[in-house]
Amino acid sequence: MATETIDTVVVGGGQAGIAMSEHLGAHGIPHVVLERDRIAERWRSARWDSLVMNGPAWHDRFPNMTFDSAPGGFPGKDEVAAYFEAYARRIDAPLRTGVEVLSARRQAGRSGFEVQTSAGTIEAQSLVAATGPFQTPVIPPLVPAEAPVVQMHSNTYRNPDALPDGAVLVVGAGSSGVQIAEELMSAGRKVFLSVGPHDRPPRRYRGRDFVWWLGVLGKWNADTPSPGTEHVTIAVSGAGGGHTVDFRRLAARGIQLVGMTEGYADGILRFAPDLARNIAQGDANYLSVLDEADAYVARNGLDLPEEPEAREIGPDPDGLRHPLATLDLAQEGIGTILWATGYRQDYSWLQVDSFDASGRPLHQRGVSREAGVYFLGLPWQTRRGSSFIWGVWHDARFIADQIAIQRAYRAHHDETPPVGPGL
Ligand SMILES: Cc1cc2nc3c(=O)[nH]c(=O)nc-3n(C[C@H](O)[C@H](O)[C@H](O)COP(=O)(O)OP(=O)(O)OC[C@H]3O[C@@H](n4cnc5c(N)ncnc54)[C@H](O)[C@@H]3O)c2cc1C
Repeated sequence: MATETIDTVVVGGGQAGIAMSEHLGAHGIPHVVLERDRIAERWRSARWDSLVMNGPAWHDRFPNMTFDSAPGGFPGKDEVAAYFEAYARRIDAPLRTGVEVLSARRQAGRSGFEVQTSAGTIEAQSLVAATGPFQTPVIPPLVPAEAPVVQMHSNTYRNPDALPDGAVLVVGAGSSGVQIAEELMSAGRKVFLSVGPHDRPPRRYRGRDFVWWLGVLGKWNADTPSPGTEHVTIAVSGAGGGHTVDFRRLAARGIQLVGMTEGYADGILRFAPDLARNIAQGDANYLSVLDEADAYVARNGLDLPEEPEAREIGPDPDGLRHPLATLDLAQEGIGTILWATGYRQDYSWLQVDSFDASGRPLHQRGVSREAGVYFLGLPWQTRRGSSFIWGVWHDARFIADQIAIQRAYRAHHDETPPVGPGL
């Protein structure tokens, strides 16, 4: 099969790959987007059935196209996939689905990369890895596979009926863990929820959604935390029209809260004595957003209705005052441990010198250490918003600019008109 030549290969046809295509197209850069499955595959098949967006439709979208549904609503996962499919059509993205990138490496003795795919070889000058912030599920190695309980990650959870009978321990209280725990409880399951450090902004305050508050307060632009800084997940929910995640309310409705899951031996799980601290830090985060919001309203003289009741934090439930230190799986009838413990990335196909010892991309704002290689859609790539639908669109524009600038350098001769400052 003849080798195809193109300027830029984008790997991954999720929101990142589609945003990248739009900006490369605006620069007139010949490119192709390769997707091994279908457009926005992870929204189709790596999410649970009832998932709706965590942010409202007016916010969690690309700037140039709205969702069909109400701006204040929370589109379901299939609507999100359909949105990206329509978007790719609208920008006429050169997308090839069902094509997996098997490897990419620098060419010897000349510029560019050789990209081996399931449909042949492509030579490209630039390569954008847009394979997702959340690729390979992470399950901490705490409970052996032979333990008498089903273990699954949130990316394979679909609905309560698909779980074995019995109680469920959900580990992880970010947006996924909290929403799944709530769904299981509503389906009549006994649920234990292992809660680690988290932020829990108010869903709405003084008539505005938290995405608006985080926007005007500059928090979506928060810088990447420095290495070694503790990652703190955000617990929010768009389910049922959206509500603030309130662990005391969940406890009052019957969910048994426990601290971080720490160990396992002989059918017994052990939890860290950190539940009260984690909940208190989440409360402090919640109240700090209210404080900053109030200060913003005062400073800007806004006419937004006061909401003093938002500051009422209910009494600590018994389980919070006297948290369980251990859990006997058999005694509590636990049939499933559901790990909502996040993901890592897998760039084994990208054989270039741009990773640290643990395989994490080395880059600055997505521009990798290896010239010509770019990353897009990484968590905190440039700021907090980077892995979110609207955030990746802006990061893609920056990457497209960098690719255009490098193209101009490559094409440079004395008569070339300048393409930018200094060139
Ligand atoms: C449960 C959950 C809920 C979320 N809710 C929201 C939300 O409400 N709002 C929001 O803004 N964000 C949300 N996010 C975050 C983010 O928007 C999604 O994770 C989104 O899917 C990221 O898009 P992406 O294009 O960067 O990556 P992905 O959607 O992961 O797309 C990457 C694509 O690359 C393909 N691929 C991978 N390897 C190869 C290869 N070697 N060759 C070819 N193709 C390959 C995959 O098949 C995949 O389709 C959520 C994330 C999760 C996990």
